[in-house]
Amino acid sequence: MTERPKSAATRPKTQISSIGHYDLEKNIGEGNFAKVRLARHTITGQQVAIKIIDKAKLDKATSKKLFREVRIMRLLNHKHIVKLYEVIDTPDELFLVMEYVSGGEIFDYLVAHGRMKEKEARKHFRQIIGAVAHCHQLHIIHRDLKAENLLLDENMNVKIADFGFSNQFSPGQKLNTWCGSPPYAAPELFQGKEYSGPEVDIWSLGVVLYVLVCGSLPFDGSNLAKLRARVIAGKFQIPFYMSPGNDILMLIVKN
Ligand code: ADP
Ligand code: MG
Repeated sequence: MTERPKSAATRPKTQISSIGHYDLEKNIGEGNFAKVRLARHTITGQQVAIKIIDKAKLDKATSKKLFREVRIMRLLNHKHIVKLYEVIDTPDELFLVMEYVSGGEIFDYLVAHGRMKEKEARKHFRQIIGAVAHCHQLHIIHRDLKAENLLLDENMNVKIADFGFSNQFSPGQKLNTWCGSPPYAAPELFQGKEYSGPEVDIWSLGVVLYVLVCGSLPFDGSNLAKLRARVIAGKFQIPFYMSPGNDILMLIVKN
């Protein structure tokens, strides 16, 4: 749980200090394709998070992905999903102005505080499930559910972020794109099989629940081949402190 995959991409340009009606402040996150900065509305003082995408780094596939992220975020409206307020397009960069979630990633919370008590994990997991159900009802799959993309607000409520791998699915139609992070990926993804959609999120949710309760990943390995073998075998350890009630994990992860 202490290592996260990081992008090797660096940003040689000098950072700008404002965009639209927003003053840009500190960096609050960096993902694979973007930088995220805290910003403040110049008139109202409202804090927002702005995801900044350098257009020069976008190839055709990543631009398509980005447009999908924006389109999907606009469709979503749930108290446990980060809201997209507006998009500012400039010749060099694209700015996604979003609701600011001040408590950081669940990943960092777990690194700092260790595993959650089951009662606390249950509260968070319920919120996550509610938000994912909202997505699935709208035929949207997230495809990158993991502790780094689950944020906590000032009241310790979850907000799902990062719809960069999301997509819309049509019931009955199969998808086959590999998405997300290997430790959270379903066996069918490792096997290159087609999937109809929501089930790959459900698998990741099982991994998320394990991570909340145990503070470690259920499936890990020193290399991808070992991880793959463990995921496909569905083998993971149930620690001694896990209550029998958490058998739900077995159901989620095994099915
Ligand atoms: P990527 O697609 O590059 O992974 P993300 O959307 O996940 O980008 O953003 C990267 C990181 O920035 C997140 O993991 C989180 O730490 C931070 N972040 C993203 N959105 C917000 C937000 N709305 N409020 C606060 N922090 C955010
Ligand atoms: Mg991310």
